[in-house]
Amino acid sequence: MPPSDRSGGSRFPATLATAGVDPGRLDERRPAGPRTQEPPGLPRVATGPGLDSERVRAQMVHRLRRDAGIADERVLAAMARVPRHRFVDPALVAQAYEDTSLPIGWGQTISKPSVVARMIELLLQGEAARAAGSLGRTLEIGTGCGYQAAVLAELATDVVSVERVAGLHEAARTNLSVDRPRGLRLVLGDGMRGHPPNAPYRSLVAAAAGADLPAAWLEQLADGGRLVAPVARADGRQALVVVDRHGDTWQRREEGGVVFVPLKSGISRDTGR
Ligand code: SAH
Repeated sequence: MPPSDRSGGSRFPATLATAGVDPGRLDERRPAGPRTQEPPGLPRVATGPGLDSERVRAQMVHRLRRDAGIADERVLAAMARVPRHRFVDPALVAQAYEDTSLPIGWGQTISKPSVVARMIELLLQGEAARAAGSLGRTLEIGTGCGYQAAVLAELATDVVSVERVAGLHEAARTNLSVDRPRGLRLVLGDGMRGHPPNAPYRSLVAAAAGADLPAAWLEQLADGGRLVAPVARADGRQALVVVDRHGDTWQRREEGGVVFVPLKSGISRDTGR
């Protein structure tokens, strides 16, 4: 039975109680539950704009709209809800809402917010996603720290996210243990094979660039589904490729230049950074 589309709603509270926190504490993994109120008795110290995560996130969304041309309100709202600072190293928290990629260990990076937003906006414009008003069943290749998976989960019925590096798979699990999104499954595996058990996918997105698109991704795309992935070209540059499946035809076009980490095959058991 196909999964029913979710009617909306977020796992992340609209307000983060950030008064009085320092950058270290911003990354603190708080237990699940409502966090809209500070416990009584805690001093409320002025924090400055850099440390009030809800406000800084609103500024990020403003820039996504103004500078990156992101127009889909659903994407902007999802980006406003997901606390990106929880997915980066405590030492980099001050940069969490800048439009920049940041190191997450194992030589990998968290994608730029504008790139995450652009890819998800493109996915929502796929034929089946447009008709249903949802990303539907979604496959992400390259979980990394889990940030994009959390944003996808805001707009999908269910998300499978595959990561090949064991340490990152575990890190994402930890990052997502607070406010764990419903319907999100993290898989340690070689994403070049897709993830056949849950196929077909209405939306498929990759965060790592290969020389071409693995056949498994094209096969596991649903009719009317859309794939968005970076592909490395012969000249060394990368292009963002959009593929729409209609029955047994796959329509492909390019959407400009991007920079992603390389798509690699096999699983790395490396758990140390
Ligand atoms: N989605 C992340 C981006 C992580 S960077 C975010 O939210 O910012 C891309 C990730 O793809 C890296 O963690 C890298 O290890 C992973 N990757 C590369 N090749 C892969 C493959 N074949 N299968 C699964 N993950 C892969």
